Amino acid sequence: MDLAKLRNIGIVAHIDAGKTTVSERILFDTGREHRMGNVDEGTTVLDWMQEERERGITITAAATTIAWKGHTINLIDTPGHVDFTVEVERSLRVLDGAVLVIDAVMGVQAQSEAVWRQMQRHRVPCIGFVNKLDRPGADYLRAVGDIGKKLGAPAIPAQYPLFREGALTGIVDLLSRKTWMFEQNQAIEAALELPDNARDEVGVLRAELVEKLADGDDELFTALMDGREPELARLKRALRRRVIEGTLVPVLCGIALRNQGIQPLLDAVLEYLPSPLDLPAVRGIDPATREPITRQPSIEEPLATLCFKLQADTHGELCFVRVYSGRLLANASLWNPRARRMERAGRLLRMHANHGESVDSAGPGEIVALTGTKQVATGDTLCERESPIVLEALEFPEPVITLVVEPSSSADREKLRLALARLAHEDPSFRVREEADTGQWTISGMGELHLEVMRHRLESEFHVSARTGQPRVAYREAVRSPGRGQARVERNLGGKDVFGGLTVEVLPEASLLGAQVEWADPVGVPPAFRAAVQETLQLDAHVGPRFGFPLSQVRIRVVAGESDPRRDAEPAFTQAANQALKAALESAGVVVLEPLMSFEIQSPPEFASGIIADLGARKAEVREVTAEAATRTITGTVPLSLMFGYSTAVRSLSQGRAGFSMSPAGYREVSEAELSARGLVWT
Ligand code: GDP
Repeated sequence: MDLAKLRNIGIVAHIDAGKTTVSERILFDTGREHRMGNVDEGTTVLDWMQEERERGITITAAATTIAWKGHTINLIDTPGHVDFTVEVERSLRVLDGAVLVIDAVMGVQAQSEAVWRQMQRHRVPCIGFVNKLDRPGADYLRAVGDIGKKLGAPAIPAQYPLFREGALTGIVDLLSRKTWMFEQNQAIEAALELPDNARDEVGVLRAELVEKLADGDDELFTALMDGREPELARLKRALRRRVIEGTLVPVLCGIALRNQGIQPLLDAVLEYLPSPLDLPAVRGIDPATREPITRQPSIEEPLATLCFKLQADTHGELCFVRVYSGRLLANASLWNPRARRMERAGRLLRMHANHGESVDSAGPGEIVALTGTKQVATGDTLCERESPIVLEALEFPEPVITLVVEPSSSADREKLRLALARLAHEDPSFRVREEADTGQWTISGMGELHLEVMRHRLESEFHVSARTGQPRVAYREAVRSPGRGQARVERNLGGKDVFGGLTVEVLPEASLLGAQVEWADPVGVPPAFRAAVQETLQLDAHVGPRFGFPLSQVRIRVVAGESDPRRDAEPAFTQAANQALKAALESAGVVVLEPLMSFEIQSPPEFASGIIADLGARKAEVREVTAEAATRTITGTVPLSLMFGYSTAVRSLSQGRAGFSMSPAGYREVSEAELSARGLVWT
């Protein structure tokens, strides 16, 4: 494949901005689909999981390969709901460029801000698409301004919409001055006389764009100074360079619902978003030496691929990989340096929503799905054994919400265990813990919707019937004042005298999310038993002393050991570790923390005061209320525990017209009074 003609792109947006509709229209226009899907009727192709159809939201990032004007585009559909932010993160890791869809009425919304920050972190070049120009109150230029203002993005209009009697009739491309006129579902390119008022505004906007392009480009600058009109190809090259270096975000527009503006958008993807060749070599480390190494996107280099998604499929598991260097062959033997094992791949599939086309090989920049892998986890590198590399892995946030699950009958027990393991394997933000003493499982995830979807999948995909408890926030227990504990174990174990003693301190450490075990030097614990002691302490730290919530913000320090060389034994030391930690925590000050969320609510003005009053009752701290056109935007922070069922509440407070989103914003301490009010009583 000609790498210069390959684009790996994602479409990102706030929920409801129209990302799924844009993706569907792209499939239609590129000839992959002969019927336009419609999210409102539950017929979209990309949202193929039953869950998504029912809910009308995008959960799974499906990769689809399409062709446009002699180029190949790998399209990754990404979710817009904050509960699935991990999906966005992992797609961004393997994308080369993105289209940010903005609602022309709502402007930039909270989730677009979150995604923009993620994109900045991954340095993903971006073009904007202002959608829904048919809605009353839509304003293209205001939306472009909003991208600049709210995201701090270097957004600039690259098109100009033409309206007649309030309806969109065409779109002018500012650089080429070419006009697309709309007839039925067809966009017709035409060289039209613009109406007078449009001609002026197009002239001004074009001059601004060209001026921006000339900034820092000597040749263009000189041409402008000399009063010469730069060549179109020259201008496009300049814009392409600026997009790829991240210093300009050209913004297009249209109405995805009516397939208006999608074909020019596809052209812009080819013209302005990078191919794998335009980007720096991928970085990784040599697993043996930990030295940094890089790989160029070339088939001459050794193979390096990154697994960014696992998806259950009727044929087993599909492992989605991006190839960074070398050539990946079907039926290849691949080395997984993390697991230190070989994987034997089966088929290589180029994916189209829910079906795949077999290919023999895939080169740098390509995104394919492998069948037959056994123990690959999301974020693993698969490479050649002789030239190993570990590519930078993905980072995943901590879950904020948990609930208890148990099988409806004991016959379902094993099935439930397997299904939960399977789901956790696919989604690193979904955690599962078996509670040995109750026979239940605790599952944790990123929000109510996330766990609800998982619960539903247990039934619909795995046919397991399970009972679930009420969702609860993922509390933690934090050490606020130090403690110290000592234990000595001396007993007879199976006819043998065993001995081990330990002194442990627990110290507050606000910067740690979990617990970290460290050792004083010297410490009188025989080296042979240290790993076991370390593991015991780390495991015990999952269960806090007050309510059994995981410990956080604590350093556990082994300060002294007691040993008797004739009797020293591992079980005695691990038992001593367990008891010493318990004693240390008893003497320490321990508080309960709960997840705090930052929220953004957008509402028509008439409902804003009712929403704010309700937020007050939920102990929310409202940071700001901004007024713009027909929208009030309310932002602030609120304890997650008081926001259960909020999407229903805000709907009824606003007759369904307010939009709302939340994202994790750290933790807050829960007072003793609040704890007992919630039925959490220290026994
Ligand atoms: P997503 O959540 O970002 O994937 O958004 P969807 O594609 O599911 O669209 C959300 C809603 O907006 C659906 O009801 C769509 O039919 C509607 N929608 C999408 N594009 C347009 C558009 O251009 N104009 C109008 N009026 N509605 C649109």
